[in-house]
Amino acid sequence: MTHPSYDTENIFAKILRKEIPCKKLSECPHTLTFYDINPQAPIHILVIPKGSYLDMDDFSKSASIEEQAAFVAAIGTAAELSGAHKKGYRLISNIGGFGHQEVPHLHVHILGGEPIGPMRMR
Ligand code: 5GP
Repeated sequence: MTHPSYDTENIFAKILRKEIPCKKLSECPHTLTFYDINPQAPIHILVIPKGSYLDMDDFSKSASIEEQAAFVAAIGTAAELSGAHKKGYRLISNIGGFGHQEVPHLHVHILGGEPIGPMRMR
């Protein structure tokens, strides 16, 4: 069941419906990976499920095992295709208000291509 807070007009839902373009890196029946429009590192990829999931909290509770396995595999594929895997990278998934999530469709950021720095600025 779709989360009651899921907004079908969010920007990633529009990308999935091909209403707006993206620079695609890879795709499978359950996932899409593409370049972030405002990169925060030389390599900045977004990994999203094709299903309507709000965030990792929603996905971990409601997605099928097949969707969850495909999502994990898509992260690995995107890290390799982008070259991020060569020297290391960071995965980030922001959730909700405290997590500073801006787009309310589950996504994992892959950041690489240079040293990403400490985990958190204080
Ligand atoms: P969040 O803050 O929700 O974790 O990250 C949302 C990310 O989506 C941001 O890094 C932002 O640059 C990216 N983004 C927002 N709109 C678009 C878009 O239309 N296309 C692409 N490729 N990325 C987007």
